[in-house]
Amino acid sequence: MPLVPMKQVLDEARKGRYGVGAYNVNNMEQIQALMQGAAETRTPIILQASRGALKYSNMVYLKHLILAAVEENPDLPIICHLDHGPDLETCKQAIALGFTSVMIDASLDYSVTKKDGSHPPREFEDNVRLTTQVCNYAHKRGVSVEGELGTLGGIEGKTKASEVLLTDPEQVEEFVRRTGVDALAIAIGTSHGAYKFKRSPKLALKLISRIRRRVPETALVMHGSSSVPQFLVKQINRYGGKLKKAMGVPMSQIKKAIKLGIQKVNIDTDGRLAFTAAIRKHLAQNPGVFDQRAYLGAGRTAIYKVMKKKMIDMGTAGHAGDYEPMTLAQAKKKWYR
Ligand SMILES: [Zn+2]
Repeated sequence: MPLVPMKQVLDEARKGRYGVGAYNVNNMEQIQALMQGAAETRTPIILQASRGALKYSNMVYLKHLILAAVEENPDLPIICHLDHGPDLETCKQAIALGFTSVMIDASLDYSVTKKDGSHPPREFEDNVRLTTQVCNYAHKRGVSVEGELGTLGGIEGKTKASEVLLTDPEQVEEFVRRTGVDALAIAIGTSHGAYKFKRSPKLALKLISRIRRRVPETALVMHGSSSVPQFLVKQINRYGGKLKKAMGVPMSQIKKAIKLGIQKVNIDTDGRLAFTAAIRKHLAQNPGVFDQRAYLGAGRTAIYKVMKKKMIDMGTAGHAGDYEPMTLAQAKKKWYR
């Protein structure tokens, strides 16, 4: 089966009331680990690449790794998604590469970088204008679009949101109607990275229900949804790492968020932690090893274990065969004419 448009998979998730993991990838081991988990649990999966990942992998390498995942798993719905596209140009590049979904993050103005490395928030009207341009371009090609309203905290690559502004439910309906986005990233208090909260996690879960009521047919997206498992943080620190008190969103809160109306759950940090913890341990315990297959293989197994559990916990497992996946041409004909 070819790569699938994201809208179809998230529509199914909305009807079935489960969450689909969107996992950031930039190398072979991550992709293999995720695909092993997805294949064993029969899970539809979103593989996503940020601008940083595209740069790191020289784009075409990552594209072919994802196509290899498709070839190896012809019976799983797989989406290839651009995470945090900063402008129309980057979205066009991703679509030309064959991505079946793009995010345009027009909530921040990436063309302006402040002294602290952060980007200022964009005005609502500017966000609407840029997101609409991307939707017009992408939808003509059957490609799904995720927009963002409100800003997330923390660091993703070199991107810092200087201020965290929760999504205003009053703006959501107008934003979706005017732009035509298929999915909307909402800010409910999560942030990117391993240091999401100082004490206990505080998410504005009620906001999800309020937003869900305004846009009952739009997929809602939760960024910064890693749980930062403490056993991984401890393992990293035990084998020479120096992570400070890191804290994420517990799976219990993610499950609640899915019940209230989230369909796409973005996970990056937990994969990084699992990979790093396993490689640190392997190298510390096997000081004579210099075959990279040994420690990268250990990293791959660690990602597989952590992610497979998430696929089961978020309710995605078992849903791969529920529907006949569409091509981009079919998506265009059905939704964007
Ligand atoms: Zn994000």
